Amino acid sequence: MSAARNGGGNGRVIIIGGGIIGAAIAEALIEIGTEAVIVAREPGGVATPGSFAWINNNAPCEPAYSALRHRSMELWRKMPEGGPVRMDGCLVWDVEPGDWDARAADFRVRGCAFRELSRDEISAMEPMLADVPERAFFHENDGAAEPDDITDALISASGAQVVVGDVTAIETASGRVTGVVMGDERMDADHVVVAAGVGSAELLSTVGVKLPMQNLPGLILRTMPMLPVTRRVILAPGVHFWQTNDGGMLAAKDFGGSDPAEADTIAEEVLGRIAALFPFGGPPMEAGRSITMRPMLADDRPVLGRVPTVEGLHVAVTHSGVTLAPVIGQILAAEISKGVDDPAVMDFRIERFWN
Ligand SMILES: Cc1cc2nc3c(=O)[nH]c(=O)nc-3n(C[C@H](O)[C@H](O)[C@H](O)COP(=O)(O)OP(=O)(O)OC[C@H]3O[C@@H](n4cnc5c(N)ncnc54)[C@H](O)[C@@H]3O)c2cc1C
Repeated sequence: MSAARNGGGNGRVIIIGGGIIGAAIAEALIEIGTEAVIVAREPGGVATPGSFAWINNNAPCEPAYSALRHRSMELWRKMPEGGPVRMDGCLVWDVEPGDWDARAADFRVRGCAFRELSRDEISAMEPMLADVPERAFFHENDGAAEPDDITDALISASGAQVVVGDVTAIETASGRVTGVVMGDERMDADHVVVAAGVGSAELLSTVGVKLPMQNLPGLILRTMPMLPVTRRVILAPGVHFWQTNDGGMLAAKDFGGSDPAEADTIAEEVLGRIAALFPFGGPPMEAGRSITMRPMLADDRPVLGRVPTVEGLHVAVTHSGVTLAPVIGQILAAEISKGVDDPAVMDFRIERFWN
């Protein structure tokens, strides 16, 4: 693909990080004709394969963040059917009795596509559900991505080169990026993107840039394949889960930080709740569990775009990276290749931490 034909170019971009964020940026850059190389210690990512991978705009958040999530979900909806992304919606009844109206008002204000369903409507939508709640929110634009496959799918689609390596420093000269250092080796670059998840703060510190993070662990359980019981993401009290393409469930208890010492108790509770909701799938048997750090900034918002103190250096670190990957790819690719400042990124620049 020629850079000139696609309006891209601007030299060679090294993306440090081979998770969903690095892959989405590489794909978007290559799509517009810019050379992009991924350098990653663990290709496929770290947080990405340990993620619940729900694509959503569910939790209350500021308008700019909500708009970013909506935009990304629209991009996910353009992915072909049958692959590692499924946009079949989400059913939520994990809501305190007095909170339904406030939740609905928040969804309305933020322009979320949602409906409140009655018991009969839920039964019609989820015929295998045994313990049917009185009401639920249905978010038709939500979805989920297979956490083990999505990064490879994006990389294969783009044809991006992946170099396995441990970046020890970002190299600069006269205030501009010149490459990355991997122990005794180095690679030239005109632009470097730090998309290294929880490893990002350490990398940025090699050029004197501070990134305050507050990463938290999250426990995800996987079950052995079960009969297909639902295509949706389900958030019920004390458990959330969805069924991946191979029939296994991805499940967790809550969205907070999990205490590894309580993993056995949590696993028992979570599997018991799935069994009560969908008994016809057979008793869920644990196939494995992971406790993974969620990359989170100190203010729990994404950090995106150029680093003003080092020319040619860009950053893309966030929680909810599965939801946000396509829009982050689009924004970073336009910034790097064409010098376009997407208005959506203004609220998420790194400088906010420096005041
Ligand atoms: C338990 C859990 C549940 C989650 N649930 C959701 C959810 O439901 N929905 C959602 O949208 N998001 C969710 N997230 C968040 C989401 O998974 C992350 O935001 C996303 O995966 C981050 O992707 P990433 O590419 O930035 O990081 P990662 O996947 O962690 O990839 C980082 C990459 O950087 C590389 N790297 C790091 N340091 C270096 C170095 N020095 N040199 C070379 N390479 C380096 C790593 O090897 C890796 O390839 C969840 C996360 C967790 C852990």
